[in-house]
Order: sequence, then structure tokens, then C-alpha cells
Amino acid sequence: MGVLEIIARKRDGQELTESEIATAVRGFVAKEVTEAQMAALLMAIFLRGMSPAESAALTVAMAQSGDRLDLSAIPGVKVDKHSTGGVGDKTTLVVAPLVAAFGVAVPKMSGPALGHTGGTIDKLESIPGLTTRLSAERFCRQVAQIGLAIARQTDTMVPADKLIYALRDATATVESIPLIASSVMSKKLAVGADAIVLDVKAGRGAFMSDVERATELAQVMVHIGEQAGKRVVALVTRMDQPLGAAVGDAVELAEAITTLAGRGPEDFAELCEIVAGHMLALGRAAASPEEGRALARKGLRDGVGLAKLRAMVAAQGGDPAVVDAPESLSAATREAPVMPAENGFVTGVDARRIGLAVRTLKEAAGPAGHACGVLLRKKMGDRALGEAVATVLAPLEAAGSLQQVAAEVAAAYQVGPQPPAALPLVAGVVGQ
Ligand code: URA
Repeated sequence: MGVLEIIARKRDGQELTESEIATAVRGFVAKEVTEAQMAALLMAIFLRGMSPAESAALTVAMAQSGDRLDLSAIPGVKVDKHSTGGVGDKTTLVVAPLVAAFGVAVPKMSGPALGHTGGTIDKLESIPGLTTRLSAERFCRQVAQIGLAIARQTDTMVPADKLIYALRDATATVESIPLIASSVMSKKLAVGADAIVLDVKAGRGAFMSDVERATELAQVMVHIGEQAGKRVVALVTRMDQPLGAAVGDAVELAEAITTLAGRGPEDFAELCEIVAGHMLALGRAAASPEEGRALARKGLRDGVGLAKLRAMVAAQGGDPAVVDAPESLSAATREAPVMPAENGFVTGVDARRIGLAVRTLKEAAGPAGHACGVLLRKKMGDRALGEAVATVLAPLEAAGSLQQVAAEVAAAYQVGPQPPAALPLVAGVVGQ
């Protein structure tokens, strides 16, 4: 069947077959299907949706579009982790070394930062000398040797996702559940871990603005993974305010290190324990997620993940001394306090606005962008009484944007006479 008929069938609300989906994806990567045709198909998918079988077929076709890793030489259960992206979300930098410290191998490949959310790779690259550009061979060797690698996805993996994502960005088709699910899961299948923990963010700072849509996305991703023979758990977690206290590359890395040393902010440490608990259970280092969580909590208290992080930093050419002195990471030389507009309780901290404010600062700072950040002194439920609610940090290069960004951060804070109702961070668990 030709691509025109495939587009027309989806346009008319019919279910595509596995082979039709593979034809469209293969043809697009081979440049036989034009951008206009793929854009039309993406819009048809956006408007009509996809059945679970179609979503699984799209994911497999995308995963097969490029190189895939072979992790079979690494003994034991290999466990991957993925977040759909949030503000202040440095969870990977804590849970990957923590879980690896308990003997569960974590092969983690990450993509670039998307939109207002920061990327794990950018945060890690705040470490002088560290590279995240590992060849497939070096990546697998490092996971075999120390049980952990965090690297950029190589250029030859999942080319279909790179091409399709760029087209979605240009055609207002990003916010589609089957398209997000296939984008995320194709990259997980190409890495090839046995089990995956997904952190699906819901709220103002996330792709999915409400828990219902995030749960739907979680269900589709778990189904896709299970169809591919993987064990998958998805947590739906709230992202209305930034996670933890730090937003920005170097400050988030420093906060991750502090958390690994048992001194992290409460909300962030709690999420790390829960995510790591599921990873430990899937990796058979714990009998249940609850037992895994208890192990993770003890691991954070004892600082067992720090040695693993140090080993990873050294293996990837970075200076391991930063793990012992995380404050040395920040080259920010200028700071501005953020004052609340009125006195009262913090009722909201708009994560998206904070993420965008940090992005503005990074753009102004150029290569010194890693040093830009916001430290949240007050979060939802805290009292704001005439003192700074946050501090904006910038290197000299971005000093000119500091006041404008501080005003943006101030506008992200909502203050009211009553504290807001506290909602649990984890809104649901899908799978296993
Ligand atoms: N993350 C991805 O990798 N892809 C999407 O489409 C959305 C979030």
C-alpha cells in the first residue's frame, strides 16, 4: 500500500496495520516519504489517536530505524529509568548511582533538554572535563565494569524519532499521547534494558497538564513496553512546582550530590526513594517496591551512591573531586534576591515560568550557561514574610538579564492568605 492510502486511512479513522506503520516510518527515514506526507500523517494521528496495537507498532518501527545496543554480555537485570521531563528534575543523577550501588546495572541514555525542562545531560556536563558522548562500545563496557553510564543517545540510534520530533515541533503535534509514548519508548527499546521505570509528570510544568492525561500516557507506555517483553512500571508524579530547591544545570547537579549524601530537600529525596525502590525491585535487589524504598532510604542516609557517582564521573573523564565539593561547581558570580509581591503563604510556584526564566538566563550566558540557576527558598505551603522567596544566580556574561529574570521568577510565585492543600507527590502507579 502506498503512503497516500496510509495517510487517507488514518485521516478517515481506520486502524493502520503493523506493516503500514513500518512502511511509513521506514520510508520517511529513507526520504521516500516526504516531510509534507509525514506531517499529514502526524496530524491525522494527533486528531484520530492510535489503538494500543498501532502505538506498539509505531514504537517498534521507530526503535528499528537505527542502531540498537546489545547489553547481553552484562550479567543480571539491566534497569533503565525515564522521566517525561520536569523542572528541577534531577532524579536520574541520584537514582542511577544509588541503584547501581546495590548491584543493579543502569544503562541510561538521555536526549537533549526539551522546551522549558532541563536535560540530565546538560546538568552532568557542568562537571569539568566530563563527556557524555560515549560510543556504543564504550557505553556498554562502562556499564559492564562499574554498573552505570549516563550518556547522550548516539547519533545513529532511533533516527526516526529525531526526524519525527522535529516535524512535530514544527506542526503543533507534540502533545499527542501515542506520539509521545512512541518517542519515549522507541529510545528505551533501542537501549535494550530488561526493565524500565517511567516517571510521567503531570501538572503545569509538564507535557501533560493533568493527572488523567498523564495516567493515560503511562498506561500506553507500559503496554508498549510489555508488548516488547519488558517489565515496566510507570509512576505518575505531580509537577506543579519545581522539584527540590534548585533549577539550573550546576545547581541541580550540586543538589543531586547533596541528596546522595543524605541531605537533599524532602520532596526530592522522597521521589528519589520511590523511583529507586521500584528500580531495585525490578532489578531483583529487593523483594518489593516498598522494600526497595527502605533500601534506597538507607542508601541515601549512608551515602552509598556517592562512590558510584565518583566512579562514573572518573570513567567519563570528569573531575571526581566535584562529588566531594559540589559547591565548587557553580561559577555564578552574580545573584539577585526575589521578593514576594505580598505577605502570606506560597500557594503556587509556576514550574513552567521558572523553567523558561532559567532558559532565558542560559541563552544570555552562552557557553557559561551551566552556571545559571534559581534557588527556591520558599515552596508551596511555606510562609512568605518580607524575605526573599528565591535567589537567581548568573555568571558575569548574563548579569544584564538578572533583574528581568528575577522579576519573572517573582511573577511565578503566587501568595495567598491560606496554605494550599498538600497533595501527594505520587498521584498513581501503573504496571507490575
Ligand atoms: N520526551 C520525548 O522523548 N519525546 C516526546 O515526545 C516527549 C517527551
